[in-house]
Amino acid sequence: RQEKFQKIYELYDAAQKLYTHILLNTTAGEQALSYLKDDRQLDEETIRQYGLGFVPSNNVLLSYAREHNIDETVMKSAELFIDRDEELVRDRFNNRIVWPIKNDRGQVLGFSGRSLDPDNPAKYMNSPESSFFNKGKLLYNLDQAKGNIRAGQPAMIFEGFMDVISAAMAGVGGAVATMGTALTEEHVASLTKLTDKITLVYDGDAAGQKAAKRSIPLIRSVAPQVEIGVIALADNRDPDEVRRELGLPALKQALDQATQTPTEYLINAAKQDKNLQNQAQYLDFLRDVWPILTDASAVEQDYFLKKISEDYGSSLEALQSEFKDYQAAHP
Ligand code: ATP
Ligand code: MN
Ligand code: MN
Ligand code: MN
Repeated sequence: RQEKFQKIYELYDAAQKLYTHILLNTTAGEQALSYLKDDRQLDEETIRQYGLGFVPSNNVLLSYAREHNIDETVMKSAELFIDRDEELVRDRFNNRIVWPIKNDRGQVLGFSGRSLDPDNPAKYMNSPESSFFNKGKLLYNLDQAKGNIRAGQPAMIFEGFMDVISAAMAGVGGAVATMGTALTEEHVASLTKLTDKITLVYDGDAAGQKAAKRSIPLIRSVAPQVEIGVIALADNRDPDEVRRELGLPALKQALDQATQTPTEYLINAAKQDKNLQNQAQYLDFLRDVWPILTDASAVEQDYFLKKISEDYGSSLEALQSEFKDYQAAHP
């Protein structure tokens, strides 16, 4: 059994090396390489550092595995091939750029592949869930970020692979990503082994905001000692888009800025898309504020009640009284 695991790990490593070789050194990889260089603005050193690859449609890994007499059960367990009627028929990630996904020790356990075809409804495809590949446990780039986080850099959680790579280009050492999945207790646990400071950097769109609103209470509940920071990006951009559209210095600046506290972030998010000079929308905003303040510290409650009073002209007494009423109704 231990020997079989070893063989599977070897197959993952061989697949990663083969796919990177095809991307960087063969005509089959040319189109994908120019996509990564020209459209995604990555250089070869970065591509090598993250082990990106390309999977051509000629089943190169399947041929490799057969030539090297790799055991059929090893091939099946690795989930790198598509089977039909128990027969392995092709490489799973055909025609995709692949990012190897590693555990915190740097062992490849699967891949995520991006289609080059903009019309493909499945932009990204991951290795299926298995005893090796578990999205709810794995954090992309934790192997490279671990040492930096332990040395004092904050753990920064991003949404995607390209965001992590862009952040690293901007000098962020502690960047990791969940892979299209919600943050889990296990994710948080593997970070709190290293640090008490976690910063959320989600996409500046509605989905990113939704993710932040979910992750904040999760982290608070499983790791109350953690100091949470949030970095909000403007104009629906994700960190990788900030780098490519506004430039690396603009991304550096965005990631170097003082983080918002969760309460600050959530209150600002509640303001968005509301005209607070309009009475109905102002009252609507206050209804969003009460649950946010309920989860906040006494000092924060005091601070934000005063601030709302100053900014929008309600008396502090009236705000305090409404907040008390809300708390009484939601024990
Ligand atoms: P790109 O910049 O390459 O277009 P992204 O990282 O900005 O991709 P998002 O749409 O913001 O992509 O999604 C964030 C992350 O969610 C991705 O990096 C990927 O891990 C995951 N993801 C997105 N779409 C899918 C999908 N169809 N299937 C599986 N995972 C997905
Ligand atoms: Mn997104
Ligand atoms: Mn994105
Ligand atoms: Mn993106």
